[in-house]
Amino acid sequence: MRILIAGGAGFVGSHLCERLLEEGHVVICMDNLLTSRRSNIETLIDRPGFEFMDADIVKELPPCPRLDRVYHLASPASPPAYCRYPIETLRANSEGTRNLLDLAARDGALFLYTSSSEVYGDPLQHPQHEEYRGNVSPTGPRSMYDEAKRYGEAITAAYSSSHRVSARIVRVFNTYGPGSDPADGRMIPNFITQALRGGSMTVYGDGSQTRSVCYVADIVAGLVLAMEVEEAEGKVFNLGNPEERTVLEYAKVIRRTVGSDSRLIFVDQAVGDDPRRRRPDIARARNLLGWEPRVSLSEGLSSTIAYFRGALNGDGRL
Ligand code: UDP
Repeated sequence: MRILIAGGAGFVGSHLCERLLEEGHVVICMDNLLTSRRSNIETLIDRPGFEFMDADIVKELPPCPRLDRVYHLASPASPPAYCRYPIETLRANSEGTRNLLDLAARDGALFLYTSSSEVYGDPLQHPQHEEYRGNVSPTGPRSMYDEAKRYGEAITAAYSSSHRVSARIVRVFNTYGPGSDPADGRMIPNFITQALRGGSMTVYGDGSQTRSVCYVADIVAGLVLAMEVEEAEGKVFNLGNPEERTVLEYAKVIRRTVGSDSRLIFVDQAVGDDPRRRRPDIARARNLLGWEPRVSLSEGLSSTIAYFRGALNGDGRL
């Protein structure tokens, strides 16, 4: 098959490119490298079947050959990144989604939109089931991302229900693994790089807020299933690991796994409206896709720490 991955140079996107290339598909990676990194696709660039298009999905798309599948993962995704690029984030998920849906419609290609657990905002229902409508401020500090993703879902649902495109939506929860940007400001990359350097580890607030983190290979497996399983058409799926821990627990387990004596400091640095609790209900993905996370936190952290260790220079700079 010929598969377009918009945002293919991003963290999750580059793992998806690799997996689909390994399956023998032709993979076109379209990315504007705004918050993603060329280094993520360096090992793919010379592989047969891989093509990189340096293009912005909100503009007129470059000529594309006939496609069988379109994955949309093109958006800033870490809180510091989408706060730095609020308009770009809104446009990538609105105009960008529309452009990619039209491209899929042109070829009758299957379409997958990657949404986010952020559509639930600071959830009042726990764990979050796909039917939960969320607790989101349309003008709050995270609104450029939360509302962008909600719009992205709405336009994808509209193309799907009007039978223009065979589409599915995946709400990706917190994801970690090798290849994530050590400087994107997220919890796991921050804690690992801080522990490796032996400096202070910055726990935001009192660290009692919770997250459920999923290893990237598990997320990629779920994305492929959501695209390929017939019953997934027109549906929304949570993908994430339902094992919930506090932020403070993540800091401690990472410090122990790295073997670091870093000090934990509590700072008031969270991006506003920091959700208090987050944990996916994955019953739908389990039942319809036969999917569930397989990689344990200790296995996942070991390979992620090994990646960050390699990315750190001898002097502790990245
Ligand atoms: N966090 C933290 N220290 C950091 C970075 C993040 O305590 O150095 C917290 C953040 O406040 C949030 C959680 O870790 O409660 C997850 O943050 P992340 O940026 O990874 O993503 P989010 O889930 O907020 O989108």
